[in-house]
Amino acid sequence: MAKISWVLASDIDGTLVGHGGEPDLVRFLRDRPQIGLVYLTGRTRPNAEVLLDSHGFPQPLALATDLGADVYWGPSLSLDEAWAFQQRRDWSPRQVVHALDAVDGVNYQSRCSYWRLAFYARDLTAVGEARAHLVQQGIVCRTLFDEDAQRLDVVPRSALKGRALKYILNQLHIRAQQCFVAGDAENDGDLLSGRYHGVVVANGSRSFKEKLPDTIMRSGYPGAQGVLDGLSRFVKQSDWVSREHAG
Ligand SMILES: [Mg+2]
Repeated sequence: MAKISWVLASDIDGTLVGHGGEPDLVRFLRDRPQIGLVYLTGRTRPNAEVLLDSHGFPQPLALATDLGADVYWGPSLSLDEAWAFQQRRDWSPRQVVHALDAVDGVNYQSRCSYWRLAFYARDLTAVGEARAHLVQQGIVCRTLFDEDAQRLDVVPRSALKGRALKYILNQLHIRAQQCFVAGDAENDGDLLSGRYHGVVVANGSRSFKEKLPDTIMRSGYPGAQGVLDGLSRFVKQSDWVSREHAG
């Protein structure tokens, strides 16, 4: 394995994939094995793998799925059992389903993965009641509401991409300054919170971009082109800084 100088830690949907320009980014990454990759996604592992493979993205150092609830280590993508065990401690899907059964306007739909329960939710009022009810019942979890789809997802409290990334970098002994993050939406909020340099791609919503700190570049390009735009600038700048220090 090449010596890793930097890590690109990126969301997949809407960031790496979905807005064209993927082949240019793939080529850039393949030409630079010194850039290690970490993919962080709300998808399950099989779903994520199919999508990444179809575009030819390189094997990652690690893949965090289900919003960071699971971590897989490359190149063989073996599950990090210790990490999964930590999430499992306060994850009680049956209790969640049972509790939300009592809330008007919220209906259980399916268990999308081990870590994600999907509910139909009529509106924001129903979501508010669901959240209050979960707290009242002492159930520890995180809820994500997609208003357009009227969909309420319930995931473990600790399923956060930023939390998973911190763990991954620690395990790999990679410093925060070597890491560059990329995202497009709310569920990347804790990745782009200012701990790392990074980029938000052009297709991200304006309200989301406004919340981000100044250390996060706002690329004028969407998706993979935006990632390439941000990452190439970051690499050029860090290269220059390290040469300055050396010379
Ligand atoms: Mg996304």
